[in-house]
Amino acid sequence: MLKGKIASEGYAVGKALCLYKETLHAEKEACDDVRTCIQAFHDALDKSEDDLRNLRDKTAETLDEDHAEIFDAHLEMLRDVEIKGQVESMIENDNVSAAYAYERVTQQFIEMFQEMEDEYFRARATDISDIQQRVLGYLLDKPIKDLSLLKEDTVVVARDLTPSDTAGLDLDKVKGFVTEIGGRTSHTAIIARALGIPAIVGATDALKNIEDGQTLYLDAAQGEVHIDPDEALLKKAQQKQAQEEKHKKELKKFSDKTTKTKDGKALPLFANLGSLKELVAVNEHGAEGVGLFRTEFLFMDTDKMPTRDEQVKAYQKVFETIQPVIVRTLDIGGDKDLPYLKQDKEENPFLGHRAIRLTLEQEDLFQTQLQALLIAAKDQKDVRIMFPMIATLEELSKAKQALAEAADALESEGVDYQKNVQVGIMIEIPSAALNARALAKRCDFFSIGTNDLIQYTFAADRMNEKVAYLYRPYDPVLLRLIKTVIDGGHAENIEVGVCGEIAGDLNAALMLAGMGIDELSMSPANVLEIRRALSKVSEKELKALADEALSSEDVGDVKRLLSDFRENSL
Ligand code: PEP
Ligand code: MG
Repeated sequence: MLKGKIASEGYAVGKALCLYKETLHAEKEACDDVRTCIQAFHDALDKSEDDLRNLRDKTAETLDEDHAEIFDAHLEMLRDVEIKGQVESMIENDNVSAAYAYERVTQQFIEMFQEMEDEYFRARATDISDIQQRVLGYLLDKPIKDLSLLKEDTVVVARDLTPSDTAGLDLDKVKGFVTEIGGRTSHTAIIARALGIPAIVGATDALKNIEDGQTLYLDAAQGEVHIDPDEALLKKAQQKQAQEEKHKKELKKFSDKTTKTKDGKALPLFANLGSLKELVAVNEHGAEGVGLFRTEFLFMDTDKMPTRDEQVKAYQKVFETIQPVIVRTLDIGGDKDLPYLKQDKEENPFLGHRAIRLTLEQEDLFQTQLQALLIAAKDQKDVRIMFPMIATLEELSKAKQALAEAADALESEGVDYQKNVQVGIMIEIPSAALNARALAKRCDFFSIGTNDLIQYTFAADRMNEKVAYLYRPYDPVLLRLIKTVIDGGHAENIEVGVCGEIAGDLNAALMLAGMGIDELSMSPANVLEIRRALSKVSEKELKALADEALSSEDVGDVKRLLSDFRENSL
């Protein structure tokens, strides 16, 4: 049995599928029989074509036609006669294996595209690399594992999962995730919670201990991964899953209600949204809005910068489904990379050139996104724009200036856009938290990003499982910092919400409610549990709980306080 950190609670049973993410290379080998080698090459092309067609259909079904078209381009490249001809002649003339010939030929095309000035053609290099790896996978008998083309219930095991790994994920078949690195606020964890998939992160050496095809039982209530469980354990798993289903059914009663305390104080519960795919869950769980729309997926699920039109379409899809929506401008960097945006390697990426720091410098990218947001928000009632990782007043003023420039550009272009949009910031850096009042004078709302605020307050990388013990959501130090932000915002009459992962943690949510938070935004799967709990307690009780927690010195005291409160009041 392996232990890890609970990233998304629940129970799952499925066959292990290990993602190693190695780049395949073919050694130079002679070809014994030219006809057999060419036939092997054709077979690999056929199998790859089948995969790409399936991926295309799946993407059209789960996402949309625009995304599906990427695979049409891949199919064309796969069947490129020039590449095919060169590979066949190399096999015949140089007497080398199909894998070696195919890698040599495609590599030349990749390098040629990589050197091109035009961004569109440079992006084609990534397409050919993708196809190259797929075909080589068949030729070397190590087929690529597509998370969107699964035949049985599966638990994915990986070092880490990026949003692009999970983009085409088959939600019917993927039952769980296990990763070797990451803590509760790593992006794998966030994605898993958003999709309602049980997940365990920080399970060191998982890839060493687990093999493809083994049965895994994930007890993501205890943080345990059981490999090839016996009958008795499997039976227990089934019981737990059944109990969980029953509990979910009970919570459903709260799905079409608004959130209020026992004495009628409203506290809207919003959902965090990381991709269009998650919109279904947002509606299903009765969220009252979207408090954090992470726009990164639009930029990460593709191999080139999305155009203004493409962005407008995606944003509109969200705005037409639910409102209010707080859209966050691009937060790239840290554990999120854009392959087509050449960035220098950094020693400390989480302390480096990420989020607003990067977008303020990448003017074209920022302007395109801001314009797209203003266009998509036209005629919508409540779309708000939020800047991530603001550390200083100057950054806020530059970001607002960029937004004003985007509006001016649309004005000159004669394009209609939303002229009354609320502008807010994320408070996720201690310098911003401590300067809350001054920042509040200059914007319309705050949303506290505790995932980063905790990592920067305790100086503990959120991706590093060795320091995961410093993820301390109940620590009075953090609570007092949050209270400073709430008070600073309220002194200037602006709303203060929380969109970090603690908002979806029942204990933390109770304390935040008691501290006077105006809105909580969380993984949709947590909305109903928290709505039900809040309906059982009064504002006064919550305030007393928060006051006592805030005046504690030790996190242990806060934990005791919380467990007593839950026992007596819920
Ligand atoms: C946060 O830092 O709390 C937050 C919500 O942003 P992200 O997790 O995307 O960094
Ligand atoms: Mg953050």
